[in-house]
Order: sequence, then C-alpha cells, then structure tokens
Amino acid sequence: YQAKSKRSGFEYFSEEMNVFAHEQLEIENGLRQALEKGELLLMYQPKVDLRTNQVVGLEALVRWLTNAGVLTSPDKFIPIAEETGLIVPIGRFVIREACEQWVRWHEARLNPPPVAVNISPRQFSDLSLIADILEIIKTTGMNPAMLNVEITESATMDDPEMTMEILAEMRALNLHLYIDDFGTGHSNLGQLRRLPIDAVKIDKSFINDVLTNNDDAEIVTAIINLAHALKIRVVSEGIETKAQLAFLRELGCDEIQGFLVSKPVSHSQVETFFNKTIKL
Ligand code: C2E
Ligand code: MG
Ligand code: MG
Ligand code: MG
Repeated sequence: YQAKSKRSGFEYFSEEMNVFAHEQLEIENGLRQALEKGELLLMYQPKVDLRTNQVVGLEALVRWLTNAGVLTSPDKFIPIAEETGLIVPIGRFVIREACEQWVRWHEARLNPPPVAVNISPRQFSDLSLIADILEIIKTTGMNPAMLNVEITESATMDDPEMTMEILAEMRALNLHLYIDDFGTGHSNLGQLRRLPIDAVKIDKSFINDVLTNNDDAEIVTAIINLAHALKIRVVSEGIETKAQLAFLRELGCDEIQGFLVSKPVSHSQVETFFNKTIKL
C-alpha cells in the first residue's frame, strides 16, 4: 500500500514539467493572436532626476490583458515571445504605440518627457529593427530625440561588432540609448567604454537588499563610479523605500525609478507627473 501511494521523484518531476510545458504552449498560442485581438497595451512609469526632483522620462512597459480578462506579466510572456520570434511584431507594436502616444501628448501641448521602449535580445539582433524604427518615426511624426531605447545588457554581449554597428545607427537617428538590467550580464568593462550609450540602468536585483547586503552595496557603488568615470548617467530601478533613495542619492546616482515614485500606470494617469517636481 505504502509503495503504491508513494510517487517516484522522476514521475513527480515530469508531471511538473508537463504543467509547465502546457502553460508555455497556451501562452504561445494566445500570444499569436494577442496583437490582432488588440490585447496588448502599454503602461508608463516615471523616471525622476535626483538633482532636480523632476520627472525626466517615462518607461513604456507592455501588458497583455486578454479579452477574457486574464492579465499575464511580461516576465512570463516576453521570454516566450523571444523564443518564438513573436517579439519582432510585438516589439514593433510597442514602439509604434509609444511614439503615437508621445505625439498625442505633444499635440495636446502637455510637454511630455522622453519615452523609453525596451528592446530584448532577439529583437535587437533582428535585421529589420533599424528600418522598422525609422519607418515608425516617420509615419508617427515622433521626435526621435524624445525616443529612448533600453537594451538589455545580455543583448549586447554576443557580437560586439554587430552591437557597435546597431548602436551607432540608433545614435545616428538621434535616439538616446540605455543599457538595461546592468550588472546581470557580465559584460566586460572594456566594451562598455566603447559603447555609444547615454546611461546604464542598475538592475533592481542589486537594489532590493542594497541596505543590508554588503556585496550588493559594493557592486552598486562600483557601477556608479565606473559609469561616471566614462561620463555615462546612472539610473537605479526598483527603488521602493526612502532609505534606498537616500543611499543612492548619497552615491551620486542620477535618476531613479520605482514604486516609491509610482508603479507603472495608464497613459492618462501618467500625465499627472508631467512637468512636476516630485517630493521625495
Ligand atoms: P525592465 O525593463 O527592467 O523593467 C522594470 C520592471 O520592474 C518592470 O516590470 C516594472 O514594473 C518593475 N518595477 C518598477 N519599479 C519597481 C519597484 O519599485 N519594485 C519592483 N518590485 N518592481 C518594479 P514589468 O513591467 O513586469 O516588466 C518586466 C520586464 O519585461 C522588463 O524589465 C522588460 O525586460 C520586459 N518588458 C516589459 N515591457 C517590454 C516591452 O515592451 N518589450 C520588451 N522587449 N520587453 C519588455
Ligand atoms: Mg527597461
Ligand atoms: Mg531593468
Ligand atoms: Mg529588469
């Protein structure tokens, strides 16, 4: 009796794998239709300059809300979009939507700050990326100087030559460039020196315990000092408490983003942050 009811580790493992694979497949199938069904939308999170306490930028973050009301987080569906190549049309949608929204704000004379879009590795290595961005800028009337691009550090590591070429082309379009999730990708520092970028964003995994974990504090300190030595700005993401803010301010971090200021909110809610000094 006992042997029968006891599951082997293997069976247990494979059943878990099945549930996981099934979920992956379900997301993939749904995602294929999400664009045409209009189920993707953007939320916006403000970035605050620590010298002026002004909102100096917005990050557009994609959300997938099915017509049946199911919300899936990008941490779940972006990796699947990357694996399947669906990230290319999804990414195009995100860039176009962010540009159209910025132009609407601009035409309503709301004086919107620059808006940033995220570019993940597969998207970054897609040969049509630059042409797509150029086409979107032209057809939306976007001011390219107000479009920021956040490229994950891991996307810039595979092929340094190609990376340099793409970043140079983006720079030539007058875009501002951020390296996202900085510190997680083990990119070499010599390369960072050569990249034509404006800022690095320190990954929130280093910020979480920065006050209690000495290693994290050392890493954050080193990133800020290195970036400043290279005349690159530093943004810290995932700032949730005043104590974290005070620490990052002390280290000379240039900009912050996080729930302390605001979680990502809708396009109409984020307007309340435009041209505001934030009390921090
Ligand atoms: P990311 O670009 O590093 O964005 C930061 C993430 O941290 C966002 O999660 C944001 O909502 C969250 N966050 C911001 N402040 C705080 C905070 O104070 N505390 C905590 N715990 N979290 C905070 P989100 O929106 O779920 O996005 C997750 C990731 O998915 C993004 O990380 C980005 O890599 C990817 N992603 C989101 N939108 C897009 C997109 O349009 N295209 C691509 N390629 N990737 C995207
Ligand atoms: Mg980002
Ligand atoms: Mg990030
Ligand atoms: Mg991240």
